[in-house]
Amino acid sequence: MAWRFALMIDPAASDDARTDFADTFSEIDPSAPALTVGELSTQRGDGIFESIGVVDGHAQEVQPHLARLAHSAEICELPAPNLEQWREAIIRAQAASGEGEAVIKLILSRGVEHGPTPTAWVTVAPAADFTKPRTEGIAVAVLDRGYSIDLPGRAPWLLLGAKTLSYAVNMAAIREAKRRGADDAVFVSSDGFVLEAPTASLIIRRGDTFVTPAPNGGILHGTTQLSLFDHLAERGFETAYETLPVSALHDADAAWLVSSVRLAAPITAVDERSLPVDAELTASFNQYLLSPRD
Ligand code: PLP
Repeated sequence: MAWRFALMIDPAASDDARTDFADTFSEIDPSAPALTVGELSTQRGDGIFESIGVVDGHAQEVQPHLARLAHSAEICELPAPNLEQWREAIIRAQAASGEGEAVIKLILSRGVEHGPTPTAWVTVAPAADFTKPRTEGIAVAVLDRGYSIDLPGRAPWLLLGAKTLSYAVNMAAIREAKRRGADDAVFVSSDGFVLEAPTASLIIRRGDTFVTPAPNGGILHGTTQLSLFDHLAERGFETAYETLPVSALHDADAAWLVSSVRLAAPITAVDERSLPVDAELTASFNQYLLSPRD
């Protein structure tokens, strides 16, 4: 991948009221080594991240991404990020992102074992071309996530509502979905409720109501889903959060996986059972998601 930019951040305390964090940033060569071997993000996946979509130099939905970074830090008992410092880093990153679509990643690691502070950095890379999934759609395989819908409240140490760096399971699920002839996965709880995809949120259409699984701690609250729900409400549609049995996906009038970089991908089939696709509505979603959004 042709990385465009990388910035190491010396994390400031959350109550540091400086208005200029320039001397906490150091731009580095994105293709050169930058982490030490004791880094806990690489040794244990012990850290959190955000992926922000960038369109023609504009980072989308920065505030919701920063809010989720802070939420993930709290769940993981990492020092609270200084959001003004991260916002300033994002402004630098977006200036280096160029034309077209790109992705800014924010990474906050627990740091080096017994080290003084967390390690933090920001990268920019070009986005892949997602025209095909956005226009032709994706088939999904329903995969067991292995825990019941009420587990997150009972087992907070599983960090289920946090966007942690530990995505090995998510990537394995996508590989399994591909082995089954699908393009992506939708996780289902062990008691039969749909959750989310490994890297996206699920939205189901039922008549004129758009429904997404309730973010009850077991899934990430997607910034794209939130933004699209605002847009749908403005267009006069109903939106709702519900605990949805897997039959709700099979019986949907339409369904999408939505995320910050791929945006809205209509689901064409669930485990080989086809779903209706509304190409025009999907195109309007992606047009909205590609427009500058704060
Ligand atoms: N759920 C998971 C597990 C994800 O990894 C992601 C995005 O990476 C999402 C949902 C969608 O979140 P967002 O719309 O903020 O990209």
